[in-house]
Amino acid sequence: MNTPLPNLVFWDSRVQLKPKSFLIEERILKTYRQMIPGEHTAGSVIPQPKEVQNGEGVFHLQNSCAILAGQELSEEAEFLSRQLADRFGLKLPIREISGHSPGRGNIVMERTKSLEDCGYESYILQVDIDGIQLEAPQPAGIFYGIQTLLQLIQAGEGQIFLPALEITDWPTLQMRGVHIDLKAQMPTFEYLKGILQRLAEYKINTVLIEYEDKFPYQSHPKIVSPLALSWEQIKELNDLARLLHIEIIPLLQSLGHVEYILSHSEYAHLREVPNDFSQYCPLNPESQRLFKELAAEIIELHPDIQFFHIGGDEADSLGQCPRCQAKAREIGKGGLYVEYINEICRFILNQGKRPVLWHDMLARNPEVVDHLVHDAVIMDWDYYSRDDEPFKIQIYDKGGGQIITKENLSEVSEKVRSVFEPYWKCEGYPDRFNLFGYTRFFKDRGFDVIAAPSVRVDGDSGYSPTFEFHLPNIRSFIEVAARYGALGVVATSWAVRRTPWETLWLGIAWTAGHAWSPEITDRQGFERKFLQQFYGAEDQTGIIEAKYLLSKLVATAIYRTPYNEQGHYWGWEPCYRSSAELKETGNFEKALKVGYEMVEQSERALAMLESAEPRVKRNRLSLQFYQWAARMVYHKSRLLIAWGLIDQARKEKAQQLLQSLLDEILVLRDQMGRLFGQIMVPEEVEREQMLRFEGEQEEIKRLLSYLYRNPPHPDEAE
Ligand SMILES: [Zn+2]
Repeated sequence: MNTPLPNLVFWDSRVQLKPKSFLIEERILKTYRQMIPGEHTAGSVIPQPKEVQNGEGVFHLQNSCAILAGQELSEEAEFLSRQLADRFGLKLPIREISGHSPGRGNIVMERTKSLEDCGYESYILQVDIDGIQLEAPQPAGIFYGIQTLLQLIQAGEGQIFLPALEITDWPTLQMRGVHIDLKAQMPTFEYLKGILQRLAEYKINTVLIEYEDKFPYQSHPKIVSPLALSWEQIKELNDLARLLHIEIIPLLQSLGHVEYILSHSEYAHLREVPNDFSQYCPLNPESQRLFKELAAEIIELHPDIQFFHIGGDEADSLGQCPRCQAKAREIGKGGLYVEYINEICRFILNQGKRPVLWHDMLARNPEVVDHLVHDAVIMDWDYYSRDDEPFKIQIYDKGGGQIITKENLSEVSEKVRSVFEPYWKCEGYPDRFNLFGYTRFFKDRGFDVIAAPSVRVDGDSGYSPTFEFHLPNIRSFIEVAARYGALGVVATSWAVRRTPWETLWLGIAWTAGHAWSPEITDRQGFERKFLQQFYGAEDQTGIIEAKYLLSKLVATAIYRTPYNEQGHYWGWEPCYRSSAELKETGNFEKALKVGYEMVEQSERALAMLESAEPRVKRNRLSLQFYQWAARMVYHKSRLLIAWGLIDQARKEKAQQLLQSLLDEILVLRDQMGRLFGQIMVPEEVEREQMLRFEGEQEEIKRLLSYLYRNPPHPDEAE
């Protein structure tokens, strides 16, 4: 079979096989057990399997082993064989199981009826000194058994083996998904396929793909970006997803967030507000016609999908054109919304797919919820609520999400409060809230719900995600989703936030781990597993520490520097802010202090990452992105210091520093080009370089020319 697996190999730890050695395997197993004290030998698997029994001894994988499988499991057998070759250099033949006993020393994969109650993704994996037996009711279960098996393999010093054990495993949540947003940072096709392959390692079975202008629409070529995927590539993506047991949910916005369409003059007549590109007029029949034409093309290329996401969020201009105003007076903005969305939903249902929509417009207009087409699936997005800070929740009253606490509770409209307050109430309310009330509300109204926390969103820097708020948000949202019978979870990942994908994996693995087994909550234990599974690293807590240091560090910069007060914090590019603003806010002194602190901490983070690098066995690219982040924070922090120095009239020092920053930009730009070029198409690499350095370059030049002219303050120099 010609498998469409990507050519990117994320492993670099192939082993030269040597004769079996009891001493070596004991030593490796011992270190392995010490790493995860008090746990069984499957303790390092992500997601954590449901039931594990330790056995005695180990099973050695060698080229004399074979993979034995029934005809209907040939793709899975092929997948395992290819993975063993790529990761460990093993070449195991595949043989079809015949009527006879499969014999010892092999990997045997078979369908079974015994686990059918645990769902189509369940499996039993038995390893003993004589061989490996993998059984599952469906090929998906076999595939997940293979992923577990691959994670259990220990390799080193010429030995490749697995500990003896028996695992019985099944997922808690049926849908375990991640959002791939192609709006910005367009990945290379090989890298995109590599993302899917690595998601499957953690048993992610759904990707929500937001194509925007990256889909090759034939009926409307004007809106297609030159960076769009081709028809052939999308077909290849479908084949890969099927092989990896991943279901694609395409997302096509049906009302708001259609700037990529309405910014073209050909489509200007569809705008709700003439000078605003963001939203269609729902009463213009051509809006629906356009959506349907685009959706039909997506469905044609994705014939096997079950779900189709129609967006429908943040339609803030609703009811503004004269026709919509009149209609809204009659049936309300909520009525306007639900009539339009129902028509869209019915179209998707007629294509044999289930429509999915974001929940916020319904949360703002709860009076129309009972009028929504019942087969629609609600995707409840909440990126900030978390059970370690139960004094706040995210709600949708005016515009997109707002955070409410006891203090601003009175600002919530009566319409929203009267419906949702019962869902917020708990013991201690309003000092604390019952979280994720929308999931419970929509379940009560009889809808299927998908929980959508976030791994990359507004509030993250452009360098690394702020795990401090993502991880508790993801964990507590999944816990509620599992408890109230949600369909599943899709972790959103907004590319416009510009945090590179390679820095997201801790959050993604955390999402996958909880969606499969929500009852596992030990964060430190999880981080140790992640180090082992993702980086192939042992004893490298430095990496995680550096990650937290960085995510905290940049968050600190965002929230504590004056630039943020202007609301431009998401990219954290302090260099765009003018020193006049700095002067107004009186924060030169603060800039200096924060700058020195950040210099020290980013140097520390970089040192930790650099010392970990030689011991990392796989996914080194991710580590390199963290190193890049540390270098960038180090660089940007020194610009803060330069401002502080100018304020203190330490002219010469400031000049020296600014000049060296200017020189450094050339080096950083070049390094960044090579690193980003491994994951993004060249046009996006250039855009990233421009966004991150051009404003800064101008600012430095301006400051330098002021310093050489020597007046007392840059603002007075102009
Ligand atoms: Zn209108």
